[in-house]
Amino acid sequence: MNTFNQTPLSNQSLKITMQTQPPKQQDISINSNIKIEDDRTGMSLETLKRAFQDNLFYLQGKDSSNATLRDYYYALAYTVRDRLLHRFIKTSRTYQEQDVKVVSYLSAEFLMGRHLANNLLSLEMYDKMSQVVKDFDVDIEDLIEEEPDPGLGNGGLGRLAACFLDSLANLEMPAIGYGIRYEFGIFRQVLRDGWQGEVPDNWLMYGNPWEIARPEDTVEVGLGGHTEAHHDENGDYRVCWIPERKVKAIPYDTPVPGYKTNTANSLRLWKAEASQEFNFEAFNAGNYDRAVAEKMSSETISKVLYPNDNTPQGKELRLAQQYFFVAASLQDLIRIHLHKHPSLDNFCEKSAIQLNDTHPAVAVAELMRLLIDEHDIYWDKAWDITQKTLAYTNHTLMPEALERWSVSLFGKLLPRHLEIIYELNHRFLENVRVWFPDDDNLASQLSIIEEGGEKKVRMANLACVGSHAINGVAALHTSLLKKDTLKHFAKLWPEKFFNKTNGVTPRRWILMSNPKLAKLVTEKIGEDWLKDLDQMRGIEKYIDDPEFRQRWLAIKQENKAHLAAYIKKTRNIDVDVNSIFDVQVKRIHEYKRQHLAVLGIINLYNRIKQNPNTEVVPRTFIFGGKAAPGYFMAKLVIKLINSVAEVVNSDPDVKGRIKVVFLPNFSVSLGQKIYPAADLSEQVSTAGKEASGTGNMKFAMNGALTIGTLDGANIEIREEAGAENFFLFGLTAEEVYAKKSEGYDPMEYYQHNPELRNVINRIAKGHFSYGDEKLFKPIVDSLLYQDPYMLLADYQEYVDCQDRVSEAYQDREKWTKMSIINSARMGKFSSDRTIREYCKEIWGVEPMKIEIDAYSQ
Ligand SMILES: *Cc1c(COP(=O)(O)O)cnc(C)c1O
Repeated sequence: MNTFNQTPLSNQSLKITMQTQPPKQQDISINSNIKIEDDRTGMSLETLKRAFQDNLFYLQGKDSSNATLRDYYYALAYTVRDRLLHRFIKTSRTYQEQDVKVVSYLSAEFLMGRHLANNLLSLEMYDKMSQVVKDFDVDIEDLIEEEPDPGLGNGGLGRLAACFLDSLANLEMPAIGYGIRYEFGIFRQVLRDGWQGEVPDNWLMYGNPWEIARPEDTVEVGLGGHTEAHHDENGDYRVCWIPERKVKAIPYDTPVPGYKTNTANSLRLWKAEASQEFNFEAFNAGNYDRAVAEKMSSETISKVLYPNDNTPQGKELRLAQQYFFVAASLQDLIRIHLHKHPSLDNFCEKSAIQLNDTHPAVAVAELMRLLIDEHDIYWDKAWDITQKTLAYTNHTLMPEALERWSVSLFGKLLPRHLEIIYELNHRFLENVRVWFPDDDNLASQLSIIEEGGEKKVRMANLACVGSHAINGVAALHTSLLKKDTLKHFAKLWPEKFFNKTNGVTPRRWILMSNPKLAKLVTEKIGEDWLKDLDQMRGIEKYIDDPEFRQRWLAIKQENKAHLAAYIKKTRNIDVDVNSIFDVQVKRIHEYKRQHLAVLGIINLYNRIKQNPNTEVVPRTFIFGGKAAPGYFMAKLVIKLINSVAEVVNSDPDVKGRIKVVFLPNFSVSLGQKIYPAADLSEQVSTAGKEASGTGNMKFAMNGALTIGTLDGANIEIREEAGAENFFLFGLTAEEVYAKKSEGYDPMEYYQHNPELRNVINRIAKGHFSYGDEKLFKPIVDSLLYQDPYMLLADYQEYVDCQDRVSEAYQDREKWTKMSIINSARMGKFSSDRTIREYCKEIWGVEPMKIEIDAYSQ
């Protein structure tokens, strides 16, 4: 534990008023006519100071004589939260009263990042609170660092959900996020001898001031059991599901404020609890163990986030998690709807539900079940409501990443849902055979059930059939979905397909992470760009202003110096702030090709070893990212990066001109330090594999240039920035497909390219593993004998492209111009633009202004 946390921070000025006595109701002068009691959540400096002091005393039980940094963090967080609550309560009341259509964003992951700074900025409290805490001898930035980063997601998909919630609130859209309140988020990554180690992320240990439990909205979710059919008094066929067990779902709400608006939407996360504290039968029979075990097994459901990214594992608990949060969220939505309306007939007019990937796709079957079995609606009507309500976002083209559950596992956990899926599949395929009578293959491709071998439920097919809109997340991705992954659905329903290119929020990813840059931009073009990123174009006219360029460059250098200090502190590596900060941070995955960058580094190293006096433009290669704990190759890539780092960083011939750094535990908060400090953004996935990418957008907004393939949103980033401001290399998606079908042989590249051969041989001969030729053999063999992600095919172009980068960086004026242009032209990649498109074209929701009266303000 950080000893600093435990050291009380004494404070002169406060000792007078606060020893062991509660703060007195002292003479706080308020110049308005609001009474002191009414001004509890006021924004005057005096009131804020008083509130901070009260929270420290009454909630933390501390005063300035014994408060730790953590105590101050909580006091500050509660001070901010109190001021969020008016907005939060008023927002949900307004949606209810106005009976507006609300979008529900269902996602198994929300990678929100820390809340404090975001909320301070949204509420325009940052400067005042910074002043307040300064009176206690505390730096607000240190308090911001005290907050545990809520890591309830794996990577891009979870972070997208968080950016979307931010944009929805910013645009004053009626919206709610639904997900799981994992007790343990994504593991904390540590390095042990260059290998990834995983440590549990106990983020709730000291309590979470940003959430509010709503036990009164608890619902029950059934699991397992069997079904019983009968005909009711009207002669209608009815089915009753008798679950084997029931789990309580308790909602916890986190307010999500819009930037400088009154809107504060809700992120509602469900916690699983046993429906009874104990099985009293077992308990009374003296079977205490079993009574406790049952309670524990219910609570396991929301215990931990599965740390896989783009690789589903088919575990029963995972399906239970998915069903758990979907069932709880749908019950919640139906309860709210029936509060205002006599029936669910108009449900789709008041509710739009977005499925973030197939993780919540069981919603198709659950909504049908609720409508038919629980709310007595006939099948056809229920199906109409379901399809009109749901929409599905696909996030991957890789067939192995599409979720498929074995029918036996699915039926064991969700017997009624399996019946519904069979029934709707039957009806669907009957239509398909009518529409396309001669195409048996089409029906088998479209079927929700995969036959042949073990039967599987194809969740992507379920989502497609049950939704009125299907979208990809970048132009290339959507076009490949239509051409390949979901081509049969595109043939059936071309009108259901949409592209919604991803975006990221400029509030977190520029304003919060790069405040100096934000200040410079605001100084030049005013502050509206934060709500309308297209306005960033306005800075382009300053590229010929040497003073502006100088300031732009100076900010980049300061950000690099900050990161360099962090690198020194955490890894004890000295890096040169004048070197190119060449950064690749993202989940470690073979398709993302971190090892391609490693091959490039080894090649540079080889050049130096061959001729130590060779000209080298200094570079710092920075890597970060987690590997799924069960993904052996990804973990070996981390070991390789660290092994290469060890050799390169200490080789006297290198003379410090190249450094390699792996920063452990990449997360939203670490990203906020890294993206603004990058000169070069590595986006080198095999073309056709990265659905969109969003890291690429964060880098470019912060003035990094991209070296990248024509993949995902890279293509659109290059279109916006201009080809001359982007370092392009590599095969196109079409060329990748063509090469694969011709029969790709990586060995040919190895044999015909001596430099590449030397690079691979260095690894194979144990140069980075103390002579151990076995350690990295799996990587070497994979590259030479399969190379499924075609690193060797792209190798030479990558190396040549990196040489062009080095050359370009030597002209710093030119480089800075390109950097400014990149930032200026990223308006398209604000998630505000993405969300506007979803609202208009998929959800049909409109903004709703929230009025805050003088009292609550
Ligand atoms: C943006 C982000 C990602 C996604 O990065 P990609 O480069 O698009 O894969 C992953 N993790 C975190 C913490 C992020 O902030």
